[in-house]
Amino acid sequence: MRPLIVIGNWKMNGSLASNASWFKSVCRGMEQGMPAGRKYAVCVPTPYLAQCSQLIQDHSPAFLSLGAQDVSAFSVGAYTGEVAASMLRELDCTYVIVGHSERRQYHRETDEQVAEKALQVLDNGMTPVICVGESADERNSGREVEVVRGQISKQVAVLQDRLADCLIAYEPIWAIGTGKVASAQMAQDMHHAIRLQLAEFDEDVASHVGILYGGSVKPDNAVELFAMPDIDGGLIGGASLNPQDFLAICQA
Ligand code: PEP
Repeated sequence: MRPLIVIGNWKMNGSLASNASWFKSVCRGMEQGMPAGRKYAVCVPTPYLAQCSQLIQDHSPAFLSLGAQDVSAFSVGAYTGEVAASMLRELDCTYVIVGHSERRQYHRETDEQVAEKALQVLDNGMTPVICVGESADERNSGREVEVVRGQISKQVAVLQDRLADCLIAYEPIWAIGTGKVASAQMAQDMHHAIRLQLAEFDEDVASHVGILYGGSVKPDNAVELFAMPDIDGGLIGGASLNPQDFLAICQA
C-alpha cells in the first residue's frame, strides 16, 4: 500500500519572519490530529533550510519533513552557485524536487540532467521528486502521453530499478500556478499511463513508486484528486504558502 504524500513547494517565497509563523500555524494544526498513514513535507528555498529544519525540530518533528527545490547534478567541486546533495542531507532534507517545469523552462534543464540530479539525491539517502508534464500546446495537439512517456523513459534509462525509491510528480505545465486544474479523471488517466509504462520496465517498481499530482491543487479539489487510485498525493505550489490551505489539503 502506497502512503499518501503531500509536499509543499514554496518556490521563491518566504522570509525569516513569515517562515517562523508558517511553521507555528502548520505544526499547531497538525498536532490537533492528522489522518494516519500519510506523509507531509515542505520544500523551502535553500537559504531557509537551516532555519526551517530548526523550526520543525522545535515544533513537531513527527509530522513534517523538509525538502529542497533543486540540487546540483555534481557531487562536489568547482560549480559556483550550485548546492550538492550531501549539503542538503546535512540540512535534514528528506525530499528534493528535480526537474520542476520552471527549472526546465528558465534554466534549460534536460531530462538527462534531471536524472543525474535524481541519482545524486538517491546516493545521499534522500527521495527525489521527479517532475514531468506536458505544455498546453502538447496537450491541445493530443501528444500529452507521448511527451510524458518520453520524459519517463529517460529517467528509466538512467535510474533503472532505483526508480522504486523515487517519487514522480505529474505536473501539467498549463495547470501550474494558473488555477486551471486538470480534472481528477484527466490526472488519473495520466498517472495510470505512467504506471503502465513503469510496469513495462518492472512491475515491482510500478507498484511501489508514488505518483503525485501537481498543478493548482487547492483545498476544494484535493479530495477528488487524492481519491483516484493512481494519485498518491500532491505537490502543492501556491496553496502551500497559506498555512490553513496547506493544512486543509494535507487533511483532504
Ligand atoms: C508547483 O509549483 O509545483 C505547483 C504545482 O504550483 P501550483 O500548485 O501553484 O500550481
